[in-house]
Amino acid sequence: MVEIDRLISESLKGDKHAVARLISIVERGLEPTPYILEKIYPHSGSAYYIGVTGPPGSGKSTIVDKLVKLFCNNHYSVGVIAVDPCSPFSGGALLGDRIRMNKRQKEWDVFFRSMSAGRVMGGLARTTKESSRILDASGKQIIIIETVGVGQSELDIAQATDTVIVILTPESGDNVQLMKAGLMEIADLFVVNKADRPGAENISLSIEAMLDRQRGKMEWKPPVILTSASLDRGIDDLYEEIWRHSRYLKQDDKLKNRRKTQLKDELKQRIESEILNVLWQKIHGNAVIDDLMDDIWEQRIDPQTAASKVVRNWLKD
Ligand code: GDP
Repeated sequence: MVEIDRLISESLKGDKHAVARLISIVERGLEPTPYILEKIYPHSGSAYYIGVTGPPGSGKSTIVDKLVKLFCNNHYSVGVIAVDPCSPFSGGALLGDRIRMNKRQKEWDVFFRSMSAGRVMGGLARTTKESSRILDASGKQIIIIETVGVGQSELDIAQATDTVIVILTPESGDNVQLMKAGLMEIADLFVVNKADRPGAENISLSIEAMLDRQRGKMEWKPPVILTSASLDRGIDDLYEEIWRHSRYLKQDDKLKNRRKTQLKDELKQRIESEILNVLWQKIHGNAVIDDLMDDIWEQRIDPQTAASKVVRNWLKD
């Protein structure tokens, strides 16, 4: 563990190479992972976490680049984790990321890391959280988690960040789609990007209309911001709104409560997976399971009832 201890202490001092190596270990779920997380956790918690999500091609990476530039120009140090839940280990995407990363890291005080489903052991949500804690503990003040919006990944981002930005474009389609995707619940800020194209006003109005219907219930009213990221328009407004939301959360312990709720959910998920691991190690290959499997196969018992039986018997022991 001497080498790991050295990496931990260097990463806590902000050394980029040490941070990158720790993230690689955690990403692959290697043996020192729990030790690293245990040592890192007490040093995390100072950074502000921003989630950026939206469909592929909506302009997430363009917007994140412009935001990073603004944060850096205002003397914040930034960490970016770009999560792609769809791509397996893909040379193309990684090459693109690498070019982007190298260019940005030379210019500004930013640490950039991309993660795809294929490279991560044990789930992107877990790894994203753990890697962002390593960045947080290394002294990054702003952490941006960027993810392609597909189902679960959006909920994961809402679970891991303080301000969630949902990006849409004039091509994003109708309201029903938005509602269905559950975006209304998770968005703290809406961005309609590619506002240089026709239809931006329309989609922005339909989001406003949907929000108006819910606004009675909402304490924070998510603003809808029009941007043309590639033309550098509207990014200042977005930047201001992020800070406005952060100031809002810092009143009356809202940020503290939001983070506590997230941590409680994380604890629950971790207890679930811990129980599963412990129990499965105990019963896997066991005769009881073989017998149950016969019963399931012969349709004498259904899998749900069988699972309940296993857990109840284990709890009785
Ligand atoms: P991502 O997949 O969501 O990360 O999207 P990208 O940031 O890679 O952008 C997808 C494409 O849209 C790129 O070709 C961008 O140059 C382009 N793009 C981004 N922002 C704008 C914008 O505001 N207007 C227009 N017309 N194109 C944009």
